[in-house]
Amino acid sequence: MQVTDDLVELNWQGRWDHITCFLDRAGPWAHPDFDVSPEVGMNTLLEICQVLVVGAGGLGCELLKDLALTGFRQIHVIDMDTIDVSNLNRQFLFRHKDVGRPKANVAAEFINNRIPGCKVVPHFKKIQDYDESFYRQFHVVVCGLDSIIARRWINGMLVSMLSYKDGKLDTTSIVPMIDGGTEGFKGNARVLLPGISACIECTLDLYPPQINFPMCTIATMPRLPEHCIEYVRILQWPKEEPFGEKVVLDGDDPDHVQWVHQKSLERAAQYGITGITYRLTQGCLHTVPVPPPRVCVCVCVCVCVFSCFKPLNNYMVFNDADGLYTYTYEAEQKEDCAACSQIPQDLTFPSSAKLQHVLNHLMESSALQMKCPAITATIHGRNKTLYMQVTSLSFLIDFSLSFCLVILELGLSDGQELAVADVTSPQTLLFRLCLKSGA
Ligand SMILES: [Zn+2]
Repeated sequence: MQVTDDLVELNWQGRWDHITCFLDRAGPWAHPDFDVSPEVGMNTLLEICQVLVVGAGGLGCELLKDLALTGFRQIHVIDMDTIDVSNLNRQFLFRHKDVGRPKANVAAEFINNRIPGCKVVPHFKKIQDYDESFYRQFHVVVCGLDSIIARRWINGMLVSMLSYKDGKLDTTSIVPMIDGGTEGFKGNARVLLPGISACIECTLDLYPPQINFPMCTIATMPRLPEHCIEYVRILQWPKEEPFGEKVVLDGDDPDHVQWVHQKSLERAAQYGITGITYRLTQGCLHTVPVPPPRVCVCVCVCVCVFSCFKPLNNYMVFNDADGLYTYTYEAEQKEDCAACSQIPQDLTFPSSAKLQHVLNHLMESSALQMKCPAITATIHGRNKTLYMQVTSLSFLIDFSLSFCLVILELGLSDGQELAVADVTSPQTLLFRLCLKSGA
């Protein structure tokens, strides 16, 4: 390692002992290509490896803290959200004074102030605001996201960055992605090597179709125990004022917690939701840093999977709803994956099908789950937009008409290539239309 005064100052004796003990020996868990060399290993960590953390929320805070303490210094974090008071119970890099400020900026400031030598660069942006040149600078992308669309978009970006020579994947073009996720009492961590192992789209049918739960939905359609507790905390408490006028709900007051617990149980019973405990109620109400254990576990796995270890192969599930249950399995690459297979997918329809059927299929199929696809095709040598979401009335009439037309009347034929763009991917996906006669 290049030893400069600056480095000596930042790398005081014993600072990295907890890391070097992994780097100075081989072992059954070490990667077969791992060269036992603490100097090279630490230099890679401290000076070379550029990590992008996507999301600075519940998972993102843990990720940043763990990465920084593990020795990673060149970290970028991207998040488009600002801090809300309800984040403070678990997103421990934020304080009350930070409410309203961008999560990425506050998280970066906190880590940079607390961990000497660590350089976290914040990006208060949407992931879609950056193009390939931004994502290409990283050696690994670690995601702590709560949105499936965002995950799919990042996945699509990393897949689009792959280059092939004579049909063979150029492995230097791979940027690995490590993806963590939590919901309720479940968590998962997975490693994706674009072009080599299963990508997000390969296993899309694992995700239930996502619905966003704004406040009005928590009020009318709760599905998790947390939704019931949130309902009682935000709506029922100020309305019923059980401990007197203008008494603020205090997560440290056992009487308050007991009241919320009881009301949440009643609400959960109405919707057949189980899993509300006193402990969970306390966790939702508390504003002291109590990161849920599943977040820590998933994030630890996320951080451990790279470095000198054999990478996780490739999907870990963690569940502490009833006792503790965890296992790993290998998610397989799908041969005809719309994102990473390089083969245009076939879309088979009866020849009597209408454009509407194609659109419904793109949105409703568990393997595609698109949100607002725009479909174009080359018909008689001319590029034609068959459908896109529009606000202009004249276009709307135009598309409504073509919507009801049978595919053949639009000039499309069997074997026709369709190009589909959607918010779930930065790439345009190619499909081949297969028409079955008769039906
Ligand atoms: Zn795939």
